[in-house]
Amino acid sequence: MLRNQDKVGARIQAWLERVNQTKEDELYFFNQTIEEVRGGACVRVHGREMLMFASYCYLGLLGHPKINAAAKAAIDKYGTGTHGVRLLAGTLTLHRELEETIARFKGTEDAITFSSGYVTNLTVISTMVGRHDVVICDKLNHASIVDGCMLSGADFVRFRHNDMADLERCLRQADSSAAKLVVVDAVFSMDGDLINLPRTAELCRQYNAWLMVDEAHSLGVLGKTGRGIEEHFGLESVIDLKMGTLSKTIPSVGGYLAGDKDLIHMFRHASRAFIFSAALPPAQAAAAQAALEVILEEPERVEALHQNARYFRNSLKQLSFDTMRTETAIVPVLCGPDERAYQMVKHCQHDDIFVLPVVSPAVPEGTARLRATVTAAHTSAEIDRALHSFESAGKKIGII
Ligand code: PMP
Repeated sequence: MLRNQDKVGARIQAWLERVNQTKEDELYFFNQTIEEVRGGACVRVHGREMLMFASYCYLGLLGHPKINAAAKAAIDKYGTGTHGVRLLAGTLTLHRELEETIARFKGTEDAITFSSGYVTNLTVISTMVGRHDVVICDKLNHASIVDGCMLSGADFVRFRHNDMADLERCLRQADSSAAKLVVVDAVFSMDGDLINLPRTAELCRQYNAWLMVDEAHSLGVLGKTGRGIEEHFGLESVIDLKMGTLSKTIPSVGGYLAGDKDLIHMFRHASRAFIFSAALPPAQAAAAQAALEVILEEPERVEALHQNARYFRNSLKQLSFDTMRTETAIVPVLCGPDERAYQMVKHCQHDDIFVLPVVSPAVPEGTARLRATVTAAHTSAEIDRALHSFESAGKKIGII
């Protein structure tokens, strides 16, 4: 029973009604409990074995023996927590080793880790810029970037999605004496398309702006060896701040920033998430480091991901689905109104294909979609099973 019947009470009530209605219609698919992870692409949900097509574990590394063993050894050596925040007693040898490994992987002088990708964006952006500075973002950037910009107190300007002329307009209009930071996603998480990095980097140089790129869906995914968006475009060191997460391709938790040593040095002493929030647990740091090693030791995983993603995207297009602008392993399947996306998911989950809807306000109204993801762990028979389910659902619901 709500204590207060004020505006907040009304907001809580509205959420309750929206969710309850979806549940009554048997169209509520959020917060489902995964009971077991079996192999790379199988999960047990409600006692049923389902094929996972909503995972960010792009290289299928969850449960990898080397990674599990590293996490267990770290617990035996250090226990399950740390002594607190990194700046004080929380820094372990493991953290430094992980940061050196990240820096080598990303081709930078140094790196720093935080307790999540979300927190990394908040703290990095708000440490880099503040009042009287300007932060410039792509319109479709992830929520954590938007929140970081708002927290920073800098002038917050957004350019039309991937529109380089509009980015140039924003840079030109910025006060010439202000510090300028441009922040973009490497891969846009709702659409699966890539930022035009060559032109973005060129403009940043021309207008003396810092460039920060969020590689949450790029690490392990883009480039021949999975090193990310610079490798994909054949560029070197054009990004000043390389941000990423340790919770997607890397089956752990945490976030990182890689860059020049002086820049990282500042973050070790001035970023609030480093100073005021606990260090990554030992098992997670060790797992992340082992995962980065596995990516280099088993390059066939990146190749398998590229092949699977290509096959999945092309097959959906052949079936006449609108997969929007995707070029990656995130494959949106446009459904239109929210209701249709829910119906698609209901049908697919009935076929034991675990896929989820993205509806408004996460995406503009009328562009609700399935956001299917394919990984290196899927076999072609498993992808075909999903395609078959999508096809019959799409025909039944009138999407294709
Ligand atoms: N950036 C992007 C583009 C993301 O998709 C996400 C996760 N959804 C994050 C940042 C946040 O990362 P984490 O889950 O590690 O907090």
